[in-house]
Amino acid sequence: MDFSLSDEQREIRDWVRTFVRKEVMPLEPEVLRRERAGQRGFTAEESRALQLKAKEAGFWGVLTPQEYGGMGLDAVTAALIEAELGRSFVPFYLGGKADNILFHANAKQRERYLLPTIAGDRKSCFAITEPGAGSDARNIRTSARKEGTEWVINGEKTFITGGNEADFVMVFAVTDKAALNSVGAADGGVTCFLADRDTGWKSEYIDTMGEWGPASLIFEDVRVPEENILGEVGQGFRLAMQWIGQGRYLLPARAIGATERLVEMAIEQSKTRVTFGQPIAERQAIQWMLADSAVEIEALRWLVLHAAWQVDQGVDSRQAQSMAKLYGGVKANEIVDRVLQIHGGMGYTRELPVERWYRELRLLRIYEGTDEIQRRTIARNLLKGHAKVGGYLG
Ligand SMILES: Cc1cc2nc3c(=O)[nH]c(=O)nc-3n(C[C@H](O)[C@H](O)[C@H](O)COP(=O)(O)OP(=O)(O)OC[C@H]3O[C@@H](n4cnc5c(N)ncnc54)[C@H](O)[C@@H]3O)c2cc1C
Repeated sequence: MDFSLSDEQREIRDWVRTFVRKEVMPLEPEVLRRERAGQRGFTAEESRALQLKAKEAGFWGVLTPQEYGGMGLDAVTAALIEAELGRSFVPFYLGGKADNILFHANAKQRERYLLPTIAGDRKSCFAITEPGAGSDARNIRTSARKEGTEWVINGEKTFITGGNEADFVMVFAVTDKAALNSVGAADGGVTCFLADRDTGWKSEYIDTMGEWGPASLIFEDVRVPEENILGEVGQGFRLAMQWIGQGRYLLPARAIGATERLVEMAIEQSKTRVTFGQPIAERQAIQWMLADSAVEIEALRWLVLHAAWQVDQGVDSRQAQSMAKLYGGVKANEIVDRVLQIHGGMGYTRELPVERWYRELRLLRIYEGTDEIQRRTIARNLLKGHAKVGGYLG
């Protein structure tokens, strides 16, 4: 069994690490300052400028196929990159990326949605969640009815990341209620529409404990032409699951970098903070927190890389991805809590970024499948015999 990285993976990982250290981390004080002043910490223009800088070195479209100008990298390398990006709380992502389901676009949609999204000229958002349907996404009520060559969409979406800034939305609506309700019709009855902002949907910012809030979207008789159906009528649920499934190893990958950085801060703090005549690093209580955190980061790293490796092998990786997502969410939150504890009162202040990470990492246990939903998936796979306790190696 070979756990080593290829020369190319090492080079890519090291380049991103250096880029984050030299270009992203120096922005942190200003990002914090702005956020504390109630402003957006990192603007779209700043993000774009940095993305173009990375592009000059060839870092563009990590998972985007080469035929679309991307790097077309494997999932393991993508996870390594994401972990490096996670070392800073500046919300920076490499450019050249489009939602995986946009690659189902037909020729016309390709020109209008896919290519401009990859180029960074247009922004998308993904909208399935509703006030009455989150984990239970099959319960969505937003509807679309056909009138001539158009579809008329009515309903409300909520917690839509980037919903206030998006130029268009991939919105999921019920087009056949009977098919949706019939047993085993998980991929029937729901359709995905590409709706430009000028079709008239409205967005409203939702204030959250995080720094960049999602939006609620209102659709009132929003008319979308037939040609704006992504995929096929009734295929929407499958597309939605494909979109959500894509990120299951990438979200906890980012948490690897964040928790590594946090534990490095805790090590530094524990060596310099003196109580009762000794650095707190000398206390077993502190050492155990550091030790447990290091073990858990290591376990998370291998869960994530193993899930990514399964994606690359083309085998069913859903169990491994759910495990990585669940463990990442739970452990990142335990670790940031310990790191805050090691910093004492200072950890609780807004002078240090620990409380910011504390709030941000909390989201990992909720979006793209809550802890409970990951556990549900993992247990169901075991009970139905789709996966073994022994894992992939059996
Ligand atoms: C910041 C943020 C960004 C988001 N971005 C997007 C986005 O871009 N697009 C989008 O469509 N959605 C987005 N979401 C929505 C997110 O995916 C949902 O919040 C999530 O799926 C949970 O749904 P819910 O909030 O309705 O909670 P609910 O489904 O109401 O769940 C409430 C609680 O019950 C638990 N629960 C539910 N069902 C079960 C069960 N069967 N067994 C045990 N426990 C259960 C849940 O785990 C949770 O703890 C975002 C959410 C947030 C907070």
